[in-house]
Amino acid sequence: MAASVIDGKAFAEGLRARVGKAGAAFEAQTGRKAGLAVVLVGEDPASQVYVRSKGKATVAAGLESFEHRLPVHTSQADLLALVARLNGDEAVDGILVQLPLPPQIDEKAVIDAIDPAKDVDGFHVVNAGRLAIGEDALVPCTPLGCLMLLKDRLGDLSGLEAVVIGRSNIVGKPMAQLLLRESCTVTVAHSRTRDLPAVVRRADIVVAAVGRPEMVTGDWLKPGATVIDVGINRVPAADEGRTRLVGDVDFASAAGVAGAITPVPGGVGPMTIAVLLRNTLVAAHARAGLPPPEDL
Ligand code: NAD
Repeated sequence: MAASVIDGKAFAEGLRARVGKAGAAFEAQTGRKAGLAVVLVGEDPASQVYVRSKGKATVAAGLESFEHRLPVHTSQADLLALVARLNGDEAVDGILVQLPLPPQIDEKAVIDAIDPAKDVDGFHVVNAGRLAIGEDALVPCTPLGCLMLLKDRLGDLSGLEAVVIGRSNIVGKPMAQLLLRESCTVTVAHSRTRDLPAVVRRADIVVAAVGRPEMVTGDWLKPGATVIDVGINRVPAADEGRTRLVGDVDFASAAGVAGAITPVPGGVGPMTIAVLLRNTLVAAHARAGLPPPEDL
Protein backbone atom coordinates (compact mmCIF):
# COMPACT_ATOMS: atom_id res chain seq x y z
CA MET A 1 0.00 0.00 0.00
CA ALA A 2 1.29 3.46 -0.85
CA ALA A 3 2.27 5.71 2.05
CA SER A 4 0.33 8.85 2.75
CA VAL A 5 2.31 11.99 2.00
CA ILE A 6 2.83 14.37 4.91
CA ASP A 7 2.15 17.86 3.60
CA GLY A 8 4.67 20.04 5.42
CA LYS A 9 3.81 23.02 3.25
CA ALA A 10 0.16 22.99 4.35
CA PHE A 11 1.10 22.44 8.01
CA ALA A 12 3.63 25.29 7.84
CA GLU A 13 1.01 27.61 6.33
CA GLY A 14 -1.33 26.80 9.22
CA LEU A 15 1.44 27.44 11.75
CA ARG A 16 2.31 30.75 10.11
CA ALA A 17 -1.34 31.79 10.30
CA ARG A 18 -1.41 30.91 14.02
CA VAL A 19 1.82 32.87 14.52
CA GLY A 20 0.16 35.82 12.78
CA LYS A 21 -2.79 35.71 15.18
CA ALA A 22 -0.60 35.32 18.26
CA GLY A 23 1.63 38.14 16.97
CA ALA A 24 -1.34 40.47 16.67
CA ALA A 25 -2.44 39.58 20.22
CA PHE A 26 1.12 40.25 21.46
CA GLU A 27 1.09 43.65 19.79
CA ALA A 28 -2.29 44.48 21.32
CA GLN A 29 -0.96 43.54 24.78
CA THR A 30 2.46 45.17 24.63
CA GLY A 31 2.06 48.01 22.11
CA ARG A 32 4.85 46.66 19.90
CA LYS A 33 5.42 43.92 17.36
CA ALA A 34 7.65 40.96 18.14
CA GLY A 35 10.91 41.49 16.24
CA LEU A 36 13.37 39.17 14.51
CA ALA A 37 16.87 40.35 13.55
CA VAL A 38 18.65 38.36 10.84
CA VAL A 39 22.35 38.92 10.26
CA LEU A 40 24.04 37.93 7.00
CA VAL A 41 27.79 38.23 6.52
CA GLY A 42 29.00 38.01 2.92
CA GLU A 43 27.24 37.13 -0.30
CA ASP A 44 26.79 33.37 -0.31
CA PRO A 45 23.91 32.94 -2.80
CA ALA A 46 22.07 30.23 -0.82
CA SER A 47 22.34 32.29 2.40
CA GLN A 48 21.02 35.34 0.58
CA VAL A 49 17.97 33.38 -0.55
CA TYR A 50 17.37 32.09 3.00
CA VAL A 51 17.72 35.54 4.54
CA ARG A 52 15.39 37.10 1.98
CA SER A 53 12.71 34.45 2.54
CA LYS A 54 13.05 34.72 6.32
CA GLY A 55 12.57 38.50 6.12
CA LYS A 56 9.55 38.16 3.83
CA ALA A 57 7.92 35.50 6.01
CA THR A 58 8.52 37.60 9.14
CA VAL A 59 6.76 40.62 7.64
CA ALA A 60 3.97 38.45 6.17
CA ALA A 61 3.25 37.08 9.66
CA GLY A 62 2.95 40.65 10.96
CA LEU A 63 6.21 40.61 12.92
CA GLU A 64 9.00 43.19 12.70
CA SER A 65 12.00 42.20 10.56
CA PHE A 66 15.45 43.73 11.02
CA GLU A 67 18.00 42.76 8.39
CA HIS A 68 21.72 43.38 8.83
CA ARG A 69 23.91 42.68 5.81
CA LEU A 70 27.63 42.91 6.47
CA PRO A 71 30.49 42.69 3.96
CA VAL A 72 32.35 39.40 3.56
CA HIS A 73 35.52 40.77 5.20
CA THR A 74 33.72 41.84 8.39
CA SER A 75 35.90 41.16 11.42
CA GLN A 76 34.82 38.96 14.29
CA ALA A 77 35.01 41.99 16.61
CA ASP A 78 32.59 43.96 14.40
CA LEU A 79 30.15 41.06 14.22
CA LEU A 80 30.32 40.54 17.99
CA ALA A 81 29.67 44.28 18.46
CA LEU A 82 26.52 44.01 16.32
CA VAL A 83 25.34 40.96 18.29
CA ALA A 84 25.90 42.89 21.54
CA ARG A 85 23.87 45.79 20.16
CA LEU A 86 21.01 43.44 19.16
CA ASN A 87 21.16 41.74 22.59
CA GLY A 88 20.51 45.15 24.16
CA ASP A 89 17.84 46.27 21.68
CA GLU A 90 14.39 46.08 23.29
CA ALA A 91 12.67 45.84 19.89
CA VAL A 92 14.58 42.64 19.04
CA ASP A 93 13.19 39.38 20.44
CA GLY A 94 15.07 36.97 18.21
CA ILE A 95 18.57 37.05 16.73
CA LEU A 96 19.59 34.75 13.91
CA VAL A 97 23.08 34.85 12.47
CA GLN A 98 22.96 33.06 9.13
CA LEU A 99 25.51 30.24 8.89
CA PRO A 100 27.99 29.47 7.47
CA LEU A 101 30.15 32.47 8.39
CA PRO A 102 33.32 33.45 6.49
CA PRO A 103 36.53 31.72 7.68
CA GLN A 104 37.91 34.69 9.68
CA ILE A 105 34.95 34.38 12.07
CA ASP A 106 34.62 31.76 14.80
CA GLU A 107 31.00 30.56 14.55
CA LYS A 108 30.94 29.21 18.07
CA ALA A 109 32.13 32.53 19.54
CA VAL A 110 29.29 34.29 17.72
CA ILE A 111 26.61 31.81 18.80
CA ASP A 112 27.93 31.98 22.39
CA ALA A 113 27.57 35.77 22.28
CA ILE A 114 23.83 35.71 21.49
CA ASP A 115 21.60 36.25 24.52
CA PRO A 116 20.08 32.76 25.10
CA ALA A 117 16.68 34.45 25.59
CA LYS A 118 16.93 35.73 21.98
CA ASP A 119 18.54 32.60 20.50
CA VAL A 120 15.64 31.65 18.20
CA ASP A 121 17.83 29.15 16.31
CA GLY A 122 18.29 27.26 19.59
CA PHE A 123 22.02 26.77 18.93
CA HIS A 124 23.35 28.40 22.13
CA VAL A 125 24.85 25.93 24.58
CA VAL A 126 22.42 27.12 27.26
CA ASN A 127 19.42 26.18 25.11
CA ALA A 128 21.03 22.89 24.04
CA GLY A 129 21.65 22.11 27.72
CA ARG A 130 18.13 23.04 28.76
CA LEU A 131 16.70 20.78 26.06
CA ALA A 132 18.99 17.95 27.17
CA ILE A 133 17.86 18.15 30.81
CA GLY A 134 14.20 18.61 29.92
CA GLU A 135 13.76 22.30 30.77
CA ASP A 136 11.92 24.84 28.63
CA ALA A 137 14.29 25.93 25.87
CA LEU A 138 14.38 27.59 22.50
CA VAL A 139 14.71 24.51 20.29
CA PRO A 140 16.37 24.38 16.82
CA CYS A 141 13.74 25.07 14.18
CA THR A 142 14.16 22.10 11.82
CA PRO A 143 13.93 19.29 14.40
CA LEU A 144 11.08 21.05 16.21
CA GLY A 145 9.27 21.27 12.86
CA CYS A 146 9.84 17.52 12.35
CA LEU A 147 8.40 16.79 15.79
CA MET A 148 5.31 18.88 15.03
CA LEU A 149 4.71 16.88 11.84
CA LEU A 150 5.17 13.61 13.71
CA LYS A 151 2.77 14.54 16.52
CA ASP A 152 0.23 15.81 14.03
CA ARG A 153 0.37 12.48 12.21
CA LEU A 154 0.79 10.01 15.09
CA GLY A 155 -0.52 11.77 18.20
CA ASP A 156 1.12 10.24 21.26
CA LEU A 157 4.65 9.07 20.40
CA SER A 158 5.26 7.37 23.73
CA GLY A 159 6.97 3.97 23.48
CA LEU A 160 7.60 4.16 19.74
CA GLU A 161 10.99 3.11 18.34
CA ALA A 162 12.64 6.11 16.69
CA VAL A 163 15.83 6.05 14.65
CA VAL A 164 17.49 9.38 13.88
CA ILE A 165 20.13 9.14 11.16
CA GLY A 166 22.67 11.95 11.66
CA ARG A 167 24.13 13.46 14.82
CA SER A 168 24.65 17.13 13.94
CA ASN A 169 24.08 19.77 16.61
CA ILE A 170 21.57 21.47 14.32
CA VAL A 171 19.33 18.53 13.44
CA GLY A 172 20.26 15.02 14.63
CA LYS A 173 21.09 15.62 18.31
CA PRO A 174 18.21 18.00 19.13
CA MET A 175 15.84 15.69 17.19
CA ALA A 176 16.92 12.79 19.38
CA GLN A 177 16.40 14.88 22.53
CA LEU A 178 12.92 15.92 21.41
CA LEU A 179 11.91 12.32 20.68
CA LEU A 180 13.29 11.23 24.04
CA ARG A 181 11.21 13.94 25.67
CA GLU A 182 8.18 12.35 23.96
CA SER A 183 9.15 9.00 25.54
CA CYS A 184 10.27 7.32 22.33
CA THR A 185 13.00 4.70 22.44
CA VAL A 186 15.65 6.59 20.50
CA THR A 187 18.60 5.35 18.49
CA VAL A 188 20.97 7.88 16.94
CA ALA A 189 22.71 6.42 13.89
CA HIS A 190 25.63 8.08 12.12
CA SER A 191 28.46 7.53 9.67
CA ARG A 192 30.10 4.87 11.89
CA THR A 193 26.91 2.90 12.57
CA ARG A 194 27.23 -0.75 11.63
CA ASP A 195 24.53 -2.33 9.45
CA LEU A 196 22.45 0.84 9.20
CA PRO A 197 19.62 -0.85 7.23
CA ALA A 198 19.10 -3.32 10.10
CA VAL A 199 19.02 -0.47 12.63
CA VAL A 200 16.54 1.52 10.54
CA ARG A 201 14.33 -1.55 10.05
CA ARG A 202 13.51 -1.50 13.80
CA ALA A 203 12.02 1.96 13.63
CA ASP A 204 8.41 3.08 13.84
CA ILE A 205 9.76 6.58 13.19
CA VAL A 206 12.72 7.32 10.91
CA VAL A 207 14.23 10.79 10.74
CA ALA A 208 16.90 11.06 8.04
CA ALA A 209 19.28 14.04 8.40
CA VAL A 210 22.39 12.94 6.58
CA GLY A 211 22.94 14.98 3.43
CA ARG A 212 23.27 11.93 1.15
CA PRO A 213 20.87 11.83 -1.78
CA GLU A 214 18.28 9.03 -1.61
CA MET A 215 20.38 6.92 0.75
CA VAL A 216 17.49 5.34 2.67
CA THR A 217 15.59 2.93 0.44
CA GLY A 218 12.27 1.15 0.89
CA ASP A 219 13.91 -2.17 1.80
CA TRP A 220 15.44 -0.50 4.91
CA LEU A 221 12.01 0.31 6.33
CA LYS A 222 9.62 -1.51 8.60
CA PRO A 223 6.24 -1.62 6.84
CA GLY A 224 4.04 1.24 8.05
CA ALA A 225 6.92 3.34 9.45
CA THR A 226 6.60 7.11 9.51
CA VAL A 227 9.49 8.66 7.59
CA ILE A 228 10.67 12.24 8.01
CA ASP A 229 13.18 13.27 5.36
CA VAL A 230 15.24 16.30 6.41
CA GLY A 231 17.77 16.04 3.59
CA ILE A 232 18.02 18.70 0.92
CA ASN A 233 20.31 17.55 -1.87
CA ARG A 234 20.71 19.03 -5.33
CA VAL A 235 21.38 16.37 -7.98
CA PRO A 236 21.59 16.46 -11.79
CA ALA A 237 18.15 16.22 -13.42
CA ALA A 238 17.30 14.10 -16.47
CA ASP A 239 17.44 17.14 -18.77
CA GLU A 240 20.94 18.25 -19.54
CA GLY A 241 22.43 20.93 -17.30
CA ARG A 242 19.49 21.15 -14.90
CA THR A 243 19.29 20.06 -11.26
CA ARG A 244 16.52 18.87 -8.96
CA LEU A 245 16.11 18.56 -5.20
CA VAL A 246 15.97 15.19 -3.52
CA GLY A 247 15.98 14.12 0.10
CA ASP A 248 18.05 11.57 2.00
CA VAL A 249 15.28 9.04 1.37
CA ASP A 250 14.53 7.40 -1.96
CA PHE A 251 10.93 8.56 -2.07
CA ALA A 252 9.75 6.16 -4.81
CA SER A 253 10.81 2.95 -3.04
CA ALA A 254 10.14 4.23 0.51
CA ALA A 255 6.58 5.30 -0.34
CA GLY A 256 5.76 1.68 -1.18
CA VAL A 257 6.63 0.50 2.35
CA ALA A 258 6.20 3.44 4.75
CA GLY A 259 2.89 4.37 6.34
CA ALA A 260 3.57 8.08 5.91
CA ILE A 261 6.44 10.07 4.45
CA THR A 262 7.48 13.68 3.93
CA PRO A 263 8.31 14.68 0.34
CA VAL A 264 11.28 16.80 -0.75
CA PRO A 265 10.53 19.55 -1.48
CA GLY A 266 7.33 20.35 0.41
CA GLY A 267 7.92 18.34 3.58
CA VAL A 268 10.29 19.47 6.32
CA GLY A 269 11.72 22.45 4.38
CA PRO A 270 8.74 24.81 4.77
CA MET A 271 8.52 24.01 8.49
CA THR A 272 11.89 25.56 9.32
CA ILE A 273 10.93 29.19 8.69
CA ALA A 274 7.46 28.74 10.22
CA VAL A 275 9.07 27.42 13.42
CA LEU A 276 11.57 30.29 13.38
CA LEU A 277 8.64 32.72 13.51
CA ARG A 278 7.04 30.61 16.23
CA ASN A 279 10.27 30.69 18.25
CA THR A 280 10.48 34.47 17.84
CA LEU A 281 7.01 34.85 19.29
CA VAL A 282 7.77 32.43 22.13
CA ALA A 283 10.92 34.45 22.92
CA ALA A 284 8.95 37.72 22.77
CA HIS A 285 6.37 36.43 25.26
CA ALA A 286 9.03 35.20 27.66
CA ARG A 287 10.93 38.51 27.46
CA ALA A 288 7.71 40.43 28.11
CA GLY A 289 6.91 38.25 31.14
CA LEU A 290 3.79 36.85 29.41
CA PRO A 291 2.74 33.18 29.47
CA PRO A 292 3.73 31.29 26.30
CA PRO A 293 1.33 31.77 23.37
CA GLU A 294 -1.23 28.97 23.12
CA ASP A 295 -1.61 26.81 20.07
CA LEU A 296 1.97 27.23 18.83
P1 NAD B 1 25.76 17.41 8.85
O1 NAD B 1 26.64 17.21 7.67
O2 NAD B 1 26.15 18.35 9.92
O3 NAD B 1 25.50 15.99 9.55
C1 NAD B 1 25.28 14.84 8.79
C2 NAD B 1 25.23 13.64 9.71
O4 NAD B 1 25.01 12.49 8.90
C3 NAD B 1 26.51 13.40 10.50
O5 NAD B 1 26.19 13.31 11.87
C4 NAD B 1 27.06 12.09 9.98
O6 NAD B 1 27.56 11.25 11.02
C5 NAD B 1 25.84 11.43 9.35
N1 NAD B 1 26.23 10.63 8.19
C6 NAD B 1 27.03 10.99 7.16
N2 NAD B 1 27.16 9.95 6.30
C7 NAD B 1 26.44 8.95 6.80
C8 NAD B 1 26.19 7.62 6.36
N3 NAD B 1 26.70 7.14 5.24
N4 NAD B 1 25.39 6.85 7.13
C9 NAD B 1 24.86 7.32 8.27
N5 NAD B 1 25.05 8.58 8.73
C10 NAD B 1 25.84 9.37 8.00
O7 NAD B 1 24.33 17.77 8.24
P2 NAD B 1 23.03 18.50 8.87
O8 NAD B 1 23.30 19.93 9.03
O9 NAD B 1 22.53 17.73 10.05
O10 NAD B 1 22.03 18.32 7.65
C11 NAD B 1 21.62 17.05 7.19
C12 NAD B 1 20.77 17.22 5.94
O11 NAD B 1 19.61 17.97 6.28
C13 NAD B 1 21.43 18.01 4.80
O12 NAD B 1 20.96 17.48 3.56
C14 NAD B 1 20.90 19.42 4.98
O13 NAD B 1 20.86 20.14 3.76
C15 NAD B 1 19.51 19.12 5.47
N6 NAD B 1 18.93 20.20 6.30
C16 NAD B 1 17.67 20.58 5.99
C17 NAD B 1 17.05 21.57 6.72
C18 NAD B 1 15.64 21.96 6.38
O14 NAD B 1 15.24 23.07 6.64
N7 NAD B 1 14.85 21.07 5.82
C19 NAD B 1 17.72 22.17 7.79
C20 NAD B 1 19.00 21.73 8.13
C21 NAD B 1 19.59 20.72 7.37
